Amino acid sequence: MYKSFGQIPRSNPGAASNIADAARHVESSLDGDLDPDAIPDAQRFPRPGVEIPNADDSQEVVEDVDSAPLPVSQEQDDESHEGSVGRVVEEGIEYLAFYKSFRDVQRAPARNRWGIFFIKKRCIALATDMNFSTGESFADCLDALAAFLYTHELYHYRFDAHCLQMEATGGLPVYRPYRRLVANRPIYEWHEESIANFYALKALLPNPRFSYPQPICDYLWDLVANSPGAYAGGISKQQGARRDQMAQQASAAFGNAGPTAWQGLIESTIRIGMGLSKQREATLSSFLHLNNCPVYWIDWVKGGKSVLVPFVASVSEINNDFIKRYLAGVQDHHSDHSFYRIDNGEKVKLPNPHRPDLTNREFHNIIGKAGMTSPQFYKERTRTSVWRKEVPRSPVLPPRFGQNGAAG
Ligand SMILES: [Zn+2]
Repeated sequence: MYKSFGQIPRSNPGAASNIADAARHVESSLDGDLDPDAIPDAQRFPRPGVEIPNADDSQEVVEDVDSAPLPVSQEQDDESHEGSVGRVVEEGIEYLAFYKSFRDVQRAPARNRWGIFFIKKRCIALATDMNFSTGESFADCLDALAAFLYTHELYHYRFDAHCLQMEATGGLPVYRPYRRLVANRPIYEWHEESIANFYALKALLPNPRFSYPQPICDYLWDLVANSPGAYAGGISKQQGARRDQMAQQASAAFGNAGPTAWQGLIESTIRIGMGLSKQREATLSSFLHLNNCPVYWIDWVKGGKSVLVPFVASVSEINNDFIKRYLAGVQDHHSDHSFYRIDNGEKVKLPNPHRPDLTNREFHNIIGKAGMTSPQFYKERTRTSVWRKEVPRSPVLPPRFGQNGAAG
């Protein structure tokens, strides 16, 4: 049953720096693309949805996933709910982890490094949420989350590497024009994210050597299903149309550069690089092997503490808006004044009004009784403009578990 943390292979720093060097040479010989330094945001590699602080206000800490100790559980009962899920539902998976191209190795963040970056504080917060939601151990939750994120971001690397191969032989830029085009399209046209999430969920399927607990797989499936735009497309088994649209986006830079037949050749060549097989990448040069993509933890700290701010629902929001307005809660006169009877007949205890933030236990207890998962809670929060429109809810949902269930 042995497997590495998050199914992440051993790092290969020599290969990683060779790839960055090769990319620099290939890009410098391309026709028609802009000099990267001429792009206005050249100091910072461009990635929508990542939301990272300014390096000036804090110290950037980057650690090899290989050698760094694994983050440990923070599941004390009075720990504040951090709400990472809420931002993923609004912005997508890149809020938790991002891929930085070998082409951008000299840019911030993580100057002189490229690869996959897990944003440590947010991953811990999400694994904690998963732990409270599923009842599975924090360690198993973090491991499965890492496998999911690693595979998602590895897909971004895999396509980047395929583009580099095309550029090395074709002499025309593919990747940068494609990324610029997608960054200017609405989020439901980010087809690459749908395919990346499809593979990320696939990485959680049981295999002959190991399997993840089912509640963890269900949690991550639900997270994808409630993600924004094309990210949610990852739950579909059919990614063929997405691949076609992504191939069109990647070949758009060629515009009217040649005859129609030539366009078809470009698209089909691009499409060859859109599968992901960790066992055997038949079309990728061994120089660009998937195992050569480095994986790091990243955080931004000041005085030893992360400066990344939680995305919290406050106690007063839960008491006054979520329970009373959205769940049509009424005070339960047969017991303590802090108990409310909600629309599905469940009795919920109002969170402690003397604390500014909710605890994890309070949050999961209340949404479980309301019949909602964390992603569903945040999706509804946005849809109702923070419990103001279309309230109380309809239809009413039954509770997710009995009195002493997972969140109990
Ligand atoms: Zn992504």
